[in-house]
Amino acid sequence: MSLHHHAHLQRELRAVDARLKTLDAPTPDGHGDDADRLVAREAHEGQVLNRAALLERQGLIQAALEKITAGTYGQCEACGYPIEAKRLAATPEVRLCLIDQTRAERNARRMGPRLDMTSDDEAYLG
Ligand SMILES: [Zn+2]
Repeated sequence: MSLHHHAHLQRELRAVDARLKTLDAPTPDGHGDDADRLVAREAHEGQVLNRAALLERQGLIQAALEKITAGTYGQCEACGYPIEAKRLAATPEVRLCLIDQTRAERNARRMGPRLDMTSDDEAYLG
């Protein structure tokens, strides 16, 4: 089973590398009128975001490959139980089981400006 995932991860890693290389191509700059430059800049900003997402994915894939070597691949990082096979097949670099993934996403949404200030905080702010 991990041999199959290993091949899948290697393939994904090569695809991510290839996309990063296309993003590394120089961005046209300093030509055309303002509208052209605006379009070029927006395209570039999109590439920066893509690049960050690709680099994150690359890190996850490399971490998953290391886990295969270590023999811990397919275990949920939060609870230690095996991650659902369907999830691994769809996203081989996945780190959490469905329950913990759902919980993590719920927690991420809850983070935001704190509205529950204590009286100590209010005293401190004067
Ligand atoms: Zn879990």
